Amino acid sequence: MRLDKFLSHMGLGSRKEVKTFLKKEKIEINGIQIKDGKVSVDENNDIVTLNGEVLYYESEFYYLLHKPQGVISATEDRQHRTVLDLLKAEDYREDLFPVGRLDKDTTGLLLITNDGKLSHELLSPKKHVSKRYYATISGIVTAEDKRVFSEGMLISGGEKCLPGHLEIEGIDLDLNQSYVRVTISEGKYHQVKRMFEALGKQVLTLHRETMGPLVLEEALKIGTYRKLTEKELLKLK
Ligand code: URA
Repeated sequence: MRLDKFLSHMGLGSRKEVKTFLKKEKIEINGIQIKDGKVSVDENNDIVTLNGEVLYYESEFYYLLHKPQGVISATEDRQHRTVLDLLKAEDYREDLFPVGRLDKDTTGLLLITNDGKLSHELLSPKKHVSKRYYATISGIVTAEDKRVFSEGMLISGGEKCLPGHLEIEGIDLDLNQSYVRVTISEGKYHQVKRMFEALGKQVLTLHRETMGPLVLEEALKIGTYRKLTEKELLKLK
């Protein structure tokens, strides 16, 4: 690939910015200084350095985002902010996308990547990647509801769900609300909301805590994100 593309992919600016960058900074390919962005570089074999420091080429990017309410899990939207709008300019790339969708009002863990193969695997109905949600429910969730969840229930449209796991974490009789954790291994449209709807109850808040081996830590503030660690990536792939 061209050197300017390589450097731009490394987060050193747009291709235009990289042109000026090449004039000011010392970029070497295999020990030879290059000032022309059109020169081609083999990202797997050539050694590229910036002021003597090796630049290790990354072609795939993985961010774990704490999605806030009110943003859309899409790459673009005419009316609303999307999850990609939450990325800093230096991390934004046109080929990034969210892996699956969370509703506009759902908060929590969302993986953003440009790795289509991994996304496909995580979303494949055959892989049964588990997702855990914390939810506030209007109404009192019962042991019978737990049983229905665990047996695989029918939801609107006659769709049958795989067995899910429902844990009751708390009940507030005054507010007539329940606090639950739900684990499912599919990603049907509005699935958790439709599961409770089928039980005659309404989801008031929904927050995704985990997806496969990924866990959203409390320290990751709402609306912020971080790179996946090497360990997380190894577990995912
Ligand atoms: N289930 C839902 O109903 N909504 C989400 O955002 C995720 C799972």
